[in-house]
Amino acid sequence: MKHLIDPTDLTRAETDEIVALGEAMYANPAAYAETMRHKKLGTLFYEPSTRTRLSFTAAMMELGGNVLGFADATNASVAKGESVGDTARVISCFADILAIRHPLEGAPFEASMTSLVPVINAGDGSHNHPTQTLTDLITIQKELGRLDHLTVGCCGDLRYGRTVHSLIKAMARYEGVRFVLISPEELRLPEDFRREVCEKGGIACREVTSIEEAISDLDVLYMTRVQKERFPSQEEYERVKDCFVLDAAKMALAKERMAVLHPLPRVNEIAVEVDADPRAAYFRQVEYGKFVRMALITKLLEWKERDTPSQRGLFSDAALRCTNPKCITNADPRTPRRFRRQPDGTLVCACCDAKAASLK
Ligand code: ASP
Repeated sequence: MKHLIDPTDLTRAETDEIVALGEAMYANPAAYAETMRHKKLGTLFYEPSTRTRLSFTAAMMELGGNVLGFADATNASVAKGESVGDTARVISCFADILAIRHPLEGAPFEASMTSLVPVINAGDGSHNHPTQTLTDLITIQKELGRLDHLTVGCCGDLRYGRTVHSLIKAMARYEGVRFVLISPEELRLPEDFRREVCEKGGIACREVTSIEEAISDLDVLYMTRVQKERFPSQEEYERVKDCFVLDAAKMALAKERMAVLHPLPRVNEIAVEVDADPRAAYFRQVEYGKFVRMALITKLLEWKERDTPSQRGLFSDAALRCTNPKCITNADPRTPRRFRRQPDGTLVCACCDAKAASLK
């Protein structure tokens, strides 16, 4: 079955098809207004979400479908101790497609292993957020007219920010895309991610510590919020919380044709004065996000019989464990531990992609 757990669960061609359908839906929503009549989207939101959950809800409503589910896990059966796998299995009996958000990494993967219907990862911990990536891609396509030969600056919390991780994975597949990583030392892109995705994939990644150093080269500036909720302590968060602020003075150094994206919510990282700049695309991005989610729901149901790359080549080994403490397999021991062998022989956890280690 086709699920969207990792951005690379969609091939580049499938991604392009979804973005193109999203653009067609944006241009003529009325033509799609009845296409999901009698279909139901199940939303399983175990972590606070406004934009993503409402965007999914609005997307399904625009297509004439219905939505059921929960926005607060404390009121759901999880409060009685139900596992994510069981909840997904149960709700998949009531819905045609599921969207799940969870603070634990790998929870949507586990849901995809038990669900009877396609599962969409709506954000898992610091791991992935593939529908934000589709939103980012449609925005770049609409603002700049292409997804290749771009210099993309990712600024802010590159360590805990799942949207950046997914965006890099997806955009690395387009020709001539280069990344400039703008972060303080404490919030650099995780070393393993850099090695696996950037170095092994031969992706050009330059690291800098200020916006000014990079902004004049950029076609896209992807700003992010410092992910307060993922920090081990308040002090560590306080040290870096206002590390970068994009303002009009910095925008004056940028190309005339650059797009500023932000997955939102914004805290302090973009001064309000930037909103009036025509290059500020972040509110248009919200609108495009609804249309690309409409396209995703439509295509996943159409492609239901296709397989999911992140579910390929899995095996169990009772002597192995995942090394990521935020992985669902460590937080909830009922979750089956499954692993995958990378092309270079490394063993990784199938849920969260972290390295596997021997239990001994
Ligand atoms: N809304 C995005 C997410 O869910 C970005 C953020 O929360 O900062 O990851």
